[in-house]
Amino acid sequence: MEKMVMNCPNGHGEMLIKKSYKSMKFRGIDITFQAEHYVCPICGIEAGSIDQASSTQKAISDAYRKEIGLLAGAEIRECRKKLGITQDALARRMNVGIASVKRWEGGLVQSKAMDKALRMALQGQSVGDNYTGNRTFSIPRIKLVMRQFESILSKKLLKKGDKMLFASKYLWYSDMVAFRDLGKSMTGSTYASLPLGPQLNNYRDLIDEIKNADEKSAEPLIPEEKRIIIRISRSFPQEKMVYDATHREEIWKEKNAGEIIPYSDSARLTEL
Ligand SMILES: [Zn+2]
Repeated sequence: MEKMVMNCPNGHGEMLIKKSYKSMKFRGIDITFQAEHYVCPICGIEAGSIDQASSTQKAISDAYRKEIGLLAGAEIRECRKKLGITQDALARRMNVGIASVKRWEGGLVQSKAMDKALRMALQGQSVGDNYTGNRTFSIPRIKLVMRQFESILSKKLLKKGDKMLFASKYLWYSDMVAFRDLGKSMTGSTYASLPLGPQLNNYRDLIDEIKNADEKSAEPLIPEEKRIIIRISRSFPQEKMVYDATHREEIWKEKNAGEIIPYSDSARLTEL
């Protein structure tokens, strides 16, 4: 933490930094963490800087995460540095936005599923080929696949303000069927089982990036991939049809909300 001088408001001059352990309940769990603040050696008045308040928040989150068996922010940062990769590289390895990595290294508590993915990525494993379908995640390729659907279906799927509700369903089938039939997904995307169907994992962080991506920078689609997209388009010419089809898939139904749908499940698709 940056050292700064804080003077006693009662005019006793420079205050001293005091570290102490504090205990509290956080989200129903008893935690102990170290906090730091300033104290006047003469009158005993205490004060905290903004920096100290923010590190106290991080310390609370880290203590909580350790207590319930999740990686703490400091642990994520240390492991990442040991691996010699940037926050951006870790984000790409996990198929999440860099904002998520920044928040987890700060004070945001990651979900259990994300903690599992974090541990794999930090052990140097590409987060499960089974989560990305044997392809490196590519945002421009998502845009490319979506453009292909738009041109076949003659309608816009990547709409402003849209939460990828329908686009995600077409994308999911493209990736799953490509993995099943060709051994490799089309975009390297990871999908979570959400109440409204399979959804691009972490789509909130990705949606703007997808809209702004340059599809020309993506690896071009091979004829077999184009044929899969045509097949999906013919099966589901209306958005509602693809939406309903995903809701009939056991591999979606059997998952808990937020759970990742692995590519190995593609063998059990029933609608295509
Ligand atoms: Zn004082």
